[in-house]
Amino acid sequence: MQQKKIGILGGGQLGRMLLSPAIDLDIELHFLENDSNAPCSTVSRNFHQGNITNYEDVLSFGRQMDVISIEIEKVSADALEQLEKEGKKVFPQPTIIRLIQDKRLQKQFYKDNQIPTSDFVLIDNKEELIDYLEKNEGKLPIVQKLGKDGYDGKGVQILKDLEDAKQNGFEAPSLLEDKVEIEKEISVIVARNENGETTVFDAVEMVVNEKYNLLDYLLAPARISENQKQEATKLAIEVIEKLGENGMVGLLAVELFIDKKGNILVNEVAPRPHNSGHHTIEACTTSQYAQHLRSILNLPLGKTTLRSSAAILNLIGEENHTGTPFYDGLDKLLELENVYPHIYGKKQTKPARKMGHITVLGNDIEKLKETVEKVKGSIHVITKD
Ligand code: ADP
Repeated sequence: MQQKKIGILGGGQLGRMLLSPAIDLDIELHFLENDSNAPCSTVSRNFHQGNITNYEDVLSFGRQMDVISIEIEKVSADALEQLEKEGKKVFPQPTIIRLIQDKRLQKQFYKDNQIPTSDFVLIDNKEELIDYLEKNEGKLPIVQKLGKDGYDGKGVQILKDLEDAKQNGFEAPSLLEDKVEIEKEISVIVARNENGETTVFDAVEMVVNEKYNLLDYLLAPARISENQKQEATKLAIEVIEKLGENGMVGLLAVELFIDKKGNILVNEVAPRPHNSGHHTIEACTTSQYAQHLRSILNLPLGKTTLRSSAAILNLIGEENHTGTPFYDGLDKLLELENVYPHIYGKKQTKPARKMGHITVLGNDIEKLKETVEKVKGSIHVITKD
């Protein structure tokens, strides 16, 4: 294997988790990141400070690298296109990053390629929104999504009725989607290298807390039928192969809805390691992070066999705590078998900020759930006076 310099745009927790497989294969990773306290800053000597959305910063960083990739999609696609023109390997390809950065273009891509997704219309401003809804009141309630710059559910809202739309409708260019009657949300991670080899991880299910209607934890494998598994896998491969001119190279998380009638619809994709693949570190024969590196370096992809069922719990900052984090209960957690905490090393905790995650393994699903409940109540990210 030839020694290459790999440049990653972003130095957050996803970048940090790329480091471990990079060490194992002696791959030289560099990070570009503005925040000097970001999770990669303390664990990599190749931490370059700069703005990943700034054309000049990305260009000068990328010119020092052999291969450039991302751990977040909000980056300067213009700079990546220029780097590609200059002969650098950029994976995922810049045109695909540009498409995914805009939910409107992304949705149109699914439609143009006959990939099942909920029906939608594109609107440019609030006036068009009201005009459309006045003529199509039967479509309400409807989901409005900002084309650009929404993340973690911000930039997504359900408009209940016309009055709600008039009061709260987004002004910016957006997408109006039919509201899907969701039975289950699942995610499938697929990888593809330049040779066109693809591998798919087992689908993961988002388990929702019925009482609060919030994500409780993620479960692998998803509790879906064999047919649904096959269909979801087929769809993920179809999406990665249809993206770009000759198919996307890299790792792609495909978020899917299964509706009450059993239809599988693509919601959106992320072309990088994903929250729904953290468990692969302990639970699969190859982790999503190792697979990301293999795919962008055109190495043979690893087998994705799930060695054990697993749950992923996000460790998020508690309400009313902002400041230096303290992981209350972590010591006790370390006493438990089959429990693997990952602390991201963020210098500041804030309410709802992703501070780490915990993977729980266990082939007996009831026991797994029992351990999940135990873990949930026993660790809290707080600040200590
Ligand atoms: P983000 O990119 O911010 O994560 P998503 O597009 O994934 O936004 O939407 C966030 C959540 O909103 C989804 O996980 C789902 O629960 C809900 N949602 C999104 N689109 C729809 C839809 N068309 N119908 C019903 N619920 C939806």
